Amino acid sequence: MEKLSSTEKLKLKADIIRKRLVEVAIRNGAGHIAPSLSSVDILTTLYYQVMNISDSPDWENRDRLVFSKAHGAYGLYAILADIGYIQQKDWDTFYAGSFLAGCIERSPEHGIEASCGALGHGLPIATGIAFGAKLQKKEYMTYCVVGDGEMQEGSNWEAIQLGVKYQLDNLIIIVDCNGLQAMDFLTDVLSTENPMDDLESKFTAFGTTVVRCDGHDAASIIEALNQPKNNKPLTVLAKTVKGYGIRAMENDPKFHFRIPTPKELEQGVRYE
Ligand SMILES: [Mg+2]
Repeated sequence: MEKLSSTEKLKLKADIIRKRLVEVAIRNGAGHIAPSLSSVDILTTLYYQVMNISDSPDWENRDRLVFSKAHGAYGLYAILADIGYIQQKDWDTFYAGSFLAGCIERSPEHGIEASCGALGHGLPIATGIAFGAKLQKKEYMTYCVVGDGEMQEGSNWEAIQLGVKYQLDNLIIIVDCNGLQAMDFLTDVLSTENPMDDLESKFTAFGTTVVRCDGHDAASIIEALNQPKNNKPLTVLAKTVKGYGIRAMENDPKFHFRIPTPKELEQGVRYE
């Protein structure tokens, strides 16, 4: 599969993905646009440069990606259509008759590794995949994209203990740190301080290697992913903006599951 060699090309690709996901979601009445937009640059960087994947989604040695923040999967669907893992017609009819679900459902033949949606389960699944790779002496990496609000689920921390205990340096946890969960700010729910400080101290205490990055900057994401793993899972805390790309939606809790009106769209977008 062709890789994009420069961060400039990755940014252009991310803009295309943003545009497509917004068009399809608005046309078909799918509401989780804002949580999808915060992870587009992360996913674009992974799929078009970092991950070792092939034209065949079931290639045995492929790097795995588990997308745990399952409601915000529109960007992933747009990418899977772009790289040919799902047919364009299935993406075009997403939420309007397609097999693609609002919450992501496992479909290995389309490059979707795990069903998620009940939050807090993607990371335990990814940890199991990474553990299995170690046991089988496989070289592939397992990436897991989780939401910051989702990290409140205790099942994540059980998985992290196992990942640290078994030195799963083939597991990379990328937290989409948009500071929001559903229709509220993390600080108004359970975070008692700056949410990224909060997560950094917890991941560090549990024994993973932790690094921060700008989740909308491909160079910053790549640098974070290349940190030494030191025989531990790597946690990347990616600072993002919920609704990134549509100015009226950015960092506004009411847009968790709300489609922007034409008038709101007139406030502008960040992509061509
Ligand atoms: Mg969030």
